Amino acid sequence: MDLKIFDRMESEVRGYIRSFPVIFNQARGSVLIDENRNEYIDFFSGAGTLNYGHNNPVFKEKLVEYVESDGVVHGLDMATSAKKQFLETVERVLLKPRNWQYTLQFTGPTGTNAVEAALKIARQVKGRQNIISFTHGFHGVSGGSLAVTANAKFRNAAGVALANTSFMPYDGYFGPDVDSIACIERMLEDPSSGLDKPAAVIVETVQGEGGVNVATLRWIKELEKLCRRHDMLLIVDDIQVGCGRTGSFFSFESAGIRPDIITLSKSLSGYGLPMSLVLMKPELDIWKPGAHSGTFRGNNLAFVTATAALDTYWTSDAFSTEIQRKERMVRDWLENVVHSYPNAGLAVRGRGLIQGLVTNGDPSLAGRIASKAFEQGLVIETSGAQDEVLKLLPALTIEDELLTRGLEVIERSVGEALAESGQQGARVLKFGGKAR
Ligand SMILES: *Cc1c(COP(=O)(O)O)cnc(C)c1O
Repeated sequence: MDLKIFDRMESEVRGYIRSFPVIFNQARGSVLIDENRNEYIDFFSGAGTLNYGHNNPVFKEKLVEYVESDGVVHGLDMATSAKKQFLETVERVLLKPRNWQYTLQFTGPTGTNAVEAALKIARQVKGRQNIISFTHGFHGVSGGSLAVTANAKFRNAAGVALANTSFMPYDGYFGPDVDSIACIERMLEDPSSGLDKPAAVIVETVQGEGGVNVATLRWIKELEKLCRRHDMLLIVDDIQVGCGRTGSFFSFESAGIRPDIITLSKSLSGYGLPMSLVLMKPELDIWKPGAHSGTFRGNNLAFVTATAALDTYWTSDAFSTEIQRKERMVRDWLENVVHSYPNAGLAVRGRGLIQGLVTNGDPSLAGRIASKAFEQGLVIETSGAQDEVLKLLPALTIEDELLTRGLEVIERSVGEALAESGQQGARVLKFGGKAR
């Protein structure tokens, strides 16, 4: 496939095209199709943007209907019928059944816009500048969001000081024996710790970009209590692992917490259409009219598909049950792979349908597995500080048959990558010491 025009015209900043150097042309459900009609199983889902698959037929029908009827496409933040339906649906499907009250702020369309708004709200409400963020956290690459993002690759590109943030150890950062909440509390209590009193804590319950680091439910609960004790707002950035990724619509539901502010984006529209949302407790809504704006806060096509997504998948528990069943399939498969190569330094971690195969022994292994998998028709990415985690993000709606085929590709790719690096695991020996 001829990728020359991309090399010639597009900035060096391009990223994923390098991992998947083909020209994609069509996509349906969990299958991507390139210009040569090769098919790929998608275990990446637009970094968690396509939880309901590509071109979900139910949403597509609503979208086409809306476009055909000359529904308003761009509406700034004016009232439109599509937005009204979305608000009604959020209230009926998400808030009322949980007995929650949140005020909605529509921000610019991409995730970082929601994070910027959330940080502004917290700082305004508390009248403080500092924010606690976590090691390996990722919250976007615009100024404010970048300041709370840990990854040096992104931070170094800023060109200015990234201030007003204190990074604290995420759950398990110093190993299982160190209680990082106690460390943070010690610093908050000590007036000479050097920690400026924070307005808020921003956290991902599972760090997607940071390497599929999973906070325990206990830690999440303790973090909420810490916030209450020290008068800090709790912001849960549910942009990647919300919208069902961990099994429930919000990722923190099983921890039983009530964040003050929640950010949503990626899979919110359900169709890959840009849309972001901030949910805040009503008393935090101290905005002056128009004090935060954005031309694209009213992507009505996204409202239509987001409404369809909530109505189709989230009015009962059936979809959650389905996600949990698939989680077990993926988990069992990966654990089996890990046990097949006991000396390879492999491990599994994740929650719901975000699962990581960690290649502790040799960080470069994850990348080699991913590229071997791509050669065999599987789109999958790595994450983590050294890209040492193979990150599985299949669509929540993926058919069992495609899920199994994808897992088979991973298993084969692990075997091949290990054989290449001279690691003769048990599985390889079973086949006469030859790489399959
Ligand atoms: C992707 C992501 C963002 C940023 O979203 P963009 O749409 O890329 O701006 C923020 N937070 C988390 C947790 C993310 O995964």
